[in-house]
Amino acid sequence: MTESLFYLFIFLATFQLIVKIVLNYVNLNYVRQHQDSVPAEFADKIDLESHKKAAHYTVAKMKFNSVSSAWHYAILMFWIAFGGLNILDQWARGFGLDTTPTALVFVCALALISMALGLPESIYHTFVLEEKFGFNKTTPKLFVMDKLKELLVSAIIGLPFFYALMKIMEGLGSSWWFFAATFMLAFQFIMLWAYPRFIAPLFNKFSKLEDQTLVTEIEKLLNRIDLNFKDYYVMNASIRSSHGNAYFTGFGKNKRIVFFDTLLKTLAPQEIVSVLAHELGHLKRKHILKSMAIMSVFLYLGFYILGVSYDSEVFYLAHNVQNSSSYMALILFMYLVPVYTFPMTPVSAWFSRRNEYEADEFAVKNASGQELISALVKMYKDNSSSLTPSPVYSKFYFSHPPAAERVSFIKSQEA
Ligand SMILES: [Zn+2]
Repeated sequence: MTESLFYLFIFLATFQLIVKIVLNYVNLNYVRQHQDSVPAEFADKIDLESHKKAAHYTVAKMKFNSVSSAWHYAILMFWIAFGGLNILDQWARGFGLDTTPTALVFVCALALISMALGLPESIYHTFVLEEKFGFNKTTPKLFVMDKLKELLVSAIIGLPFFYALMKIMEGLGSSWWFFAATFMLAFQFIMLWAYPRFIAPLFNKFSKLEDQTLVTEIEKLLNRIDLNFKDYYVMNASIRSSHGNAYFTGFGKNKRIVFFDTLLKTLAPQEIVSVLAHELGHLKRKHILKSMAIMSVFLYLGFYILGVSYDSEVFYLAHNVQNSSSYMALILFMYLVPVYTFPMTPVSAWFSRRNEYEADEFAVKNASGQELISALVKMYKDNSSSLTPSPVYSKFYFSHPPAAERVSFIKSQEA
């Protein structure tokens, strides 16, 4: 049993790496094959030079992703297959402290090592890859400040959260998994609520829209869809990157729509109204709540499995850990969940694309499909998003429909 579980883990982790690299390669090839001509439906809006730049950018991203996946695989193998977690645990136990301080030493050491191991990748992504294609605006100083803030925020939020989970596991008997899942669910709702208001502002400035003509147009839209929503903000994304975007976030009183300042610079008022209508479509169709509902089913299932594993020696031995403990069970679980759920990626991507279509449909009905298309085309162009991703790749990963399908769907909705 111990051996089969060990080999199942090795098999799935290796399978994940191979699938990632193969898909990257398939996409890279597909994009290269289509780089010499702009697809007909975009030919009047996107020039060949921009199209080629997008292809080169995609190729570079695919290569980067393959290398970083291999790096993550090596780290995972070190921690689990080669017993790295156990070595660290034995070291932490060597201080002879009680369970809670031992857990604290172990978790902090693990977090710091993981952050250090992730640093080269993060530096390369920002200062080499993004820099080369002209997207990076992050200064080394800002980069360091961001990392320090991330560390501080994860310590302030993460450590008490981890401590509470440990106490639930240790003190609530055999049905602890149910309480732990409920606690986790509540925590996620609180984070969803707190993120836009308390955490995001640590990293970016959020201001109200100032452009009065735009505000008037937006108010017309809000009247049309009978919504009293005032929380649309502009975020100074341009301090880090010239990529443009807009998103909907939050929960309860803290829900808001955020425009990147980079996006507002390039879009015309009616295009912005259409993008806003799309984001409000996510709100009106309750997409965040639906995703949370689905996720909570998996959360209870996952914690039930952890509940069974927690008491079983096999669970620890199969992952090369000598001593069982609540904190080790949680950490192992954190490393194993992505490996075991990776095959679900296309399902969640499909679900997300379905939501995007619904939001587009809403935008066409309440704003303008033409304006939405022209906004999207500008976004594809400015972000150097490939117009011709491989169909297999986009089916597997894309949270948004690929350009051609999305535009033709919007056109069909307008008709
Ligand atoms: Zn969307």
